[in-house]
This record gives sequence, C-alpha cells and structure tokens, in this order.
Amino acid sequence: PTILGIESTCDETAAAVVTGHTLRSNVVASSMDEHARYGGVIPEIASRAHAQAFTPVVSKALSDAGLDLADIDAIAVSAGPGLAGCLAVGVSGAKALAWAAGKPIYGVNHVIGHVAVTQLQFGALPANTMALIVSGGHTSLLHVDDIARHIDVVGTTLDDAAGECFDKVARLLGFPYPGGPHIDEHARRGDPHAIRVPQGLTQGNAGKRHPYDFSFSGVKTAVARWIEQRQAAGEAVPVDDVCASLAASVADVLATKAMRGCEQYGSDTLIVGGGFSANSQLRAALLEQGERHGVDVRLPERALCTDNGAMVAMLGVNLVEAGVHPSPLDFPIDSAMPLTRISM
Ligand code: ATP
Ligand code: MG
Ligand code: FE
Repeated sequence: PTILGIESTCDETAAAVVTGHTLRSNVVASSMDEHARYGGVIPEIASRAHAQAFTPVVSKALSDAGLDLADIDAIAVSAGPGLAGCLAVGVSGAKALAWAAGKPIYGVNHVIGHVAVTQLQFGALPANTMALIVSGGHTSLLHVDDIARHIDVVGTTLDDAAGECFDKVARLLGFPYPGGPHIDEHARRGDPHAIRVPQGLTQGNAGKRHPYDFSFSGVKTAVARWIEQRQAAGEAVPVDDVCASLAASVADVLATKAMRGCEQYGSDTLIVGGGFSANSQLRAALLEQGERHGVDVRLPERALCTDNGAMVAMLGVNLVEAGVHPSPLDFPIDSAMPLTRISM
C-alpha cells in the first residue's frame, strides 16, 4: 500500500509518502529555531507553526513522490502522545484530507512510529524483537511481536527521559537548547572516567526491582553539585570531561538494560529509535554490546531517528497490511496516548 504519513506532535511539521518498505518522499519543517531562545518548546508557538506549515509540507511530500492525493491508499497521522494544540493541527488537517479524498485514515501512536521506521532501512521486523526508544520525552524498552497489534512495555523511565536529562545538564553548562547534540560533540574530546555520574536503578534493591526501568533525575543534581564544588575550590570546570562522563554513564545504562531485555526475551534483534538515538556515545555502546551479546542492533540513520513523517507512514503500512480497521473519522487526539495503544 501507499501511505501518506503526517506528523505534528511537537516542533516538527512533517509529511512523507511510503509504498511498502520504500520511502518516496520525506519533508520536515521545524520550528525549533523559534523556541531556542526560550530554552524549551513553547506550545503556542509550535501550534501556530504547524498551522502555517501543514499545507506546504503535505503538498511537497505528495509532489516529491510524484503523486496526487487520489493515488494514496490511506492517510496515517500521529494522534499522540504529544502537545495537544500541535496534535490538533495535524489531526484536523489529516481528517480534512481523508474526508475530501474519500480515503481511510489511521490515527497512530508516534512512539511506535519510531519503532516502525527502521523497516525502511532494514526491512520487516522479525517476530520477538526488542525496541529501545529514547528521545526528549520518552525512554522505553518495548517487546514487539506484531507491531500492528500488540506492544509490551518492558521498562520505562520513572522520571526524566534521557534527552531531557542531557538538555538539563547542557543548560547548566551554558549550551543553547536543545543541548543534547552539544554534549555529544564535547564528549568526544573528554575523559569518560573524569567524574562519577550516578547510574539510576542499577544497584542493590532498586536494581533488582527495576531491572528494565530507568531513572535520570539524579544525574543533573549530581553534575550540578560536582560543578559547584569545583567552582567553590576556584578550579575551572572541564566541560569536555563532564560531557564525556555524562554521556558514557547514560549510554552504558541504556545499552546494558536493553541487552538484558534481549536476553530475558530470547530476542536477537534490537530496534533503536527516537531523537536521542542520534547520540554518538549511545550508538557506540549499543553496537559494542550488541556484538558481544550476539544481538543485531538496528540503528537507523540520524535523519530517521528524529521526528518525521516517514515513521508515521511506515506504521500506517503495517496497519493496512495487517488488516487493522481504520480509525473512525471522529477519533480524538490523545496527548498522553499509552504505548500499548498502537492506533485509535
Ligand atoms: P518525543 O519524540 O518523545 O515526543 P522529542 O520530539 O523531543 O520527543 P526528538 O525530536 O525525537 O524527540 O528528540 C529530541 C531529543 O534528542 C532532545 O532532547 C535532544 O537534545 C536529543 N538529541 C538529539 N540529538 C542528540 C545527540 N546527538 N546527543 C544527545 N542528545 C541528542
Ligand atoms: Mg523534536
Ligand atoms: Fe519523537
């Protein structure tokens, strides 16, 4: 099937066309530059940007693919989780197109889209796959047998997401928002053993009770305290070393728990997705540990890791091929859509 995918959960207005496992167009407009000076995404600004970008982005996705709306088999759109005002723009626009063209529509889960998108690069998902989804808003370990029908949540963060944790430390270090990529860059030049960064839920009872869960809220506090002590002692802050230590610690926890999940489920494939999977230190840790544990780590190219329309379209293909019913035209947005819900 040929699916038009539409994404508007946060700051990216995106649309793409996918036929089967082939990406035919992929258009992304971001309002991130408008949010940077506020140090975080401002929902009202993001919603307005979606309203302005929706029509040009969707039109370009269709024309880049050399298609008209009439040539599409179905439309898929992110119904959640995300910012309500942003979701409302994409979902309303997608419904209008579906109604006008008489096409079925699927309101899909954005996070599951991050799992689906790897198929464009690596082909169909094998049964019994693990997926590690890490972004600014999510850090979850999932077990996937049939992506169109059933997702098990194996572990999740109990507080901050990994990207959120990087963005908070980046702010302490004076990097512009979003700070994750700046930490990545500086970490390459630093000593990963320079400072001890806490690894939440790995030790003792907490580690036993939460073998697959994550906690990153203690990291920012620990790094902040370490920096304060250096400053109080009149010493310079070794920025590269702080970044390298933080990145190594977070990458290690994520990769170790993901591998443990693969072992537990007897899975030899790990799908990785979400904006934070662009992180160099995480990619290196996953590939290294994957090799050691005999797990095939499917790391998509960076452009497919961050939010885009291709991930939504690819999940739409999976739903159509599995014969899942389209969503009713009056389906609601769900800003807190649970990971176990794949479509509306
Ligand atoms: P969600 O997908 O959960 O709704 P989101 O839109 O914030 O959230 P993405 O756009 O997929 O997610 O990812 C953005 C996050 O990834 C930010 O926190 C950003 O700092 C982080 N990030 C992006 N690139 C890197 C990198 N190279 N190293 C570390 N963090 C990164
Ligand atoms: Mg984003
Ligand atoms: Fe995302």
